[in-house]
Amino acid sequence: MTEVLEKREERPAGELGRISHWIGGQSVAGESGRTGPVFNPARGVQTKDVDFASVEEVDRAVQTAREALQSWRNVSLSRRQELFFKIRELFHDRREDLAALLTEEHGKVFTDALGEVQRGLEVIEYACGIPTLLKGDFSEQASTGIDVYSIRQPMGVVAGITPFNFPAMVPMWMWAPALACGNTFVLKPSEKDPSASVLAAQLLKEAGVPDGVFNVVHGDKVAVDAILEHPDIAAVSFVGSTPIARYIYATGTANGKRVQALGGAKNHMIVLPDADLDMAADAAVSAAYGSAGERCMAISAVVTVGEIGDEFIEAVKERLPKVKVGPGTDPENEMGPLITREHRDKVASYLDSGKEQGAEVVADGRETAPDGDGFFLGVSLLDKVTPEMDAYKDEIFGPVLSVVRAGTYDEAIKLVNENQYGNGVAIFTRDGGAARQFQHEVEVGMVGVNVPIPVPVAYYSFGGWKGSLFGDSHIYGPEGINFYTRGKVVTSRWPDPATSKVDLGFPQTR
Ligand code: NAD
Repeated sequence: MTEVLEKREERPAGELGRISHWIGGQSVAGESGRTGPVFNPARGVQTKDVDFASVEEVDRAVQTAREALQSWRNVSLSRRQELFFKIRELFHDRREDLAALLTEEHGKVFTDALGEVQRGLEVIEYACGIPTLLKGDFSEQASTGIDVYSIRQPMGVVAGITPFNFPAMVPMWMWAPALACGNTFVLKPSEKDPSASVLAAQLLKEAGVPDGVFNVVHGDKVAVDAILEHPDIAAVSFVGSTPIARYIYATGTANGKRVQALGGAKNHMIVLPDADLDMAADAAVSAAYGSAGERCMAISAVVTVGEIGDEFIEAVKERLPKVKVGPGTDPENEMGPLITREHRDKVASYLDSGKEQGAEVVADGRETAPDGDGFFLGVSLLDKVTPEMDAYKDEIFGPVLSVVRAGTYDEAIKLVNENQYGNGVAIFTRDGGAARQFQHEVEVGMVGVNVPIPVPVAYYSFGGWKGSLFGDSHIYGPEGINFYTRGKVVTSRWPDPATSKVDLGFPQTR
């Protein structure tokens, strides 16, 4: 166990901690009288209360961000870049503290939590290139004596609403490009694991980001609706489930805001008969059960094509006992608990409904979950799943992998293309031509070829199609820079210096 985890473990249990808002560079205790519970899911106990913001408290954060806007957007690009290098160093130095908070409140194993912080750091590193990223175009002599050029300017006060499953990384997807572009920010993180956002706010202050540029309000629908309806918020980024993404997009745009809303997923992995079976089985196991399946890029349905199904199931089955399940603080463990007891029970219910609806339960994670009160479910595998079953139709968001048997490649791709979600997909094959055809015709935003979890790579934007994205902008990367800026085109003409009444030293005739 690392020193950081050991220190956290030593803290006395007992009194509940309290997580407050962060407004204007300081912690601000909530006054609404409403709070929510934060659990340690590995122990199955509530450890903290988080304040829930009222409409007035959200307004206070927005007004603070508004006051900070003018001076922040006037900070030169080179100074902003320098600051971002400092932010990068500080977040890198404190990555274990951030990761420890994720393990404590989300439950993911510590190495996975460190991986999350690393992915977020890469977005900060991308934002360090802001002077280059914001360069405009210039056309000299567009007409005689006339030049035309484009510039990009910040949107203003922008807001982010984030999910529980990546409590450090997803906020970084938003605030890093937003701040680098000169916007000020109000973050409403998931109420289930909100501490990482408060630590991020403290680190940004320590790095030298002026007070008011980055603010955090905690809460539920009340805070979210206050953001969506606030007249001084210009743009909203959202990542979460599909029904809420749809609502955020509809409400935010109806209130005149620019909105990008990333939704849920049901990522398929197609295994063609010529695939490297060991490679495919390793990939399926890590992508289905990593982070207890609570990833928007998790593989939740494997579609085997032709005769390879039985062999694939055997290959996955023999790997399952090697996935050690337990508290994320123990380096031996590869999979932690689920976020809440209710969510764990809902995920487990798909094993029963799957069986009732005709699937074969190859592994039932309830039988292998560690004892105790933690919200654990062991790795679970359903075979012979069909598209009519709930386990196939719903985004389970837990460690339950479904295997669907398809006769042909055409059947397999039809399943993917007819699915309501279109976040990620993977194909496993040795045939370059088949992979190329698949990449061409599949209706999904992110495609892996012999890679189960394509992206996130900071310099390519991230986002799905269909029910996985509402809006037309993917997140971070080049599309993130566009999302957080408005374009302006300037057409300019200057009097001919030769006709100037002041002698500028130009020849009178040219
Ligand atoms: P969620 O939709 O329940 O919550 C996301 C945010 O919305 C939270 O901040 C929450 O407080 C808020 N919210 C919840 N209910 C609300 C309501 N009725 N009105 C207004 N706001 C509300 O999602 P979650 O359970 O925290 O996260 C898991 C989901 O996020 C999964 O569906 C997963 O696929 C998705 N996700 C998608 C991506 C992606 O890139 N597409 C990435 C990560 C997670």
